Amino acid sequence: MPQLLNADTALANILGDITPLGHETVPLASSLNRIIAEDIISPINLPPFDNSAMDGYAIQAADSQRASPANPIALDVVMDILAGSAPTGQLETGQAARIMTGAPLPTGATAVVPVEDTIDNSPQVAILTRIEENAHIRRVGENIAAGAVVMTAGTLIRPAELGMLAAVGQAEVKVIRQPKVLILTTGDELVDIDQPLKPGQIRDTNSYALAGLVQQAGGQPVRLPIAKDSLEAIRALYRKALEHQPDMLISSAGVSVGAADLVRVVMDELGSIDFWRINMRPGKPLAYGAIQGVPFFGLPGNPVSAMVTFEIFVRPALAKMAGRRAAPPIIQAKIAADMTSDGRRSYNRVTLSRTDNGFVAHETGSQSSGALMSMVLADGLAVIPEGQRRVPAGAELSVLLLRPLHGSGKK
Ligand code: AMP
Ligand code: MG
Repeated sequence: MPQLLNADTALANILGDITPLGHETVPLASSLNRIIAEDIISPINLPPFDNSAMDGYAIQAADSQRASPANPIALDVVMDILAGSAPTGQLETGQAARIMTGAPLPTGATAVVPVEDTIDNSPQVAILTRIEENAHIRRVGENIAAGAVVMTAGTLIRPAELGMLAAVGQAEVKVIRQPKVLILTTGDELVDIDQPLKPGQIRDTNSYALAGLVQQAGGQPVRLPIAKDSLEAIRALYRKALEHQPDMLISSAGVSVGAADLVRVVMDELGSIDFWRINMRPGKPLAYGAIQGVPFFGLPGNPVSAMVTFEIFVRPALAKMAGRRAAPPIIQAKIAADMTSDGRRSYNRVTLSRTDNGFVAHETGSQSSGALMSMVLADGLAVIPEGQRRVPAGAELSVLLLRPLHGSGKK
């Protein structure tokens, strides 16, 4: 049997070949989940001015030295400062300014007494507690100072980043371009979802699953109509794909030995592609190369194999292009029952349950590479290392997570 290629070696070859994409400028409101392409420096102090953290009274803290509920201190209310206003007067000893949360502190004030600790005796206020200097004051620049780095290039924009970028007035953001990924489907047996199934036909599943994976990985998937297993149809499909000016091409099917070898013929005409046999299960056959300079992945046709090879090879490649973190989270789990392998590195679909002794992994029924339900049910992929043919119940395996373990979606 010819030597199988180690999966890590294959991935290293692929990553060595992938170059990061450039950037584009988008309105802030459209930048969620994008990656910032430049360091963002705050042009302003935040907050831009000393302001009150409470609704209450700005005073000179020293005036409250002897204040207590039994000994209220009376101060003259000389100002009324609302949020959005700009006070002009100077606060003197013996005086108080009624102030709202977020309103600018008047000069002369050194603390804010919360309204709960006062009694309104207009035109005076009674202060019921002693207050420390600086209490309930948000100082200019304490969130971020003018000139400081708000976030660095490579940061993922989450809702918190959106808010912070808005706060510093970043109406547009420079973000890394999203990879445009053309998804190619070939097979005489395949029909699209809106077509009735005739005898011998199955629905194209891969283009939908792969488009979902691409989108999840931060790319922009484009699905093209299914091509028949003919040289002409496959040539036309690739021509059409290149017209879209893709950053990556992904095809599924046609790379296994015995598959209609037409894809290979077209590949030889259009680009330089290696056909690998990877030491993994599922997903032994994998084609990788470039078509007119565009990275090309030929994934196996079986739906589970297509998805697993995406996780192992395509997701990291997309991550490198898009400046994203590549690796899915990995946890350790004890397996609930014996698992077997043929000696290739195996990615077995498992559900996970949390116990007092950590995670326990259960296989999700049939591990056939055609049985996509095993992926639907799976929380993760348990990795049986190469060379190991049997893993006993209770042994620990690494599990690549396919969904977050918290939050919704899991029964
Ligand atoms: P092939 O590599 O063309 O021999 O395909 C291997 C297996 O994957 C066959 O059972 C195909 O029917 C199946 N297959 C190929 N492409 C798809 C697809 N887009 N959706 C679902 N199954 C597919
Ligand atoms: Mg086929």
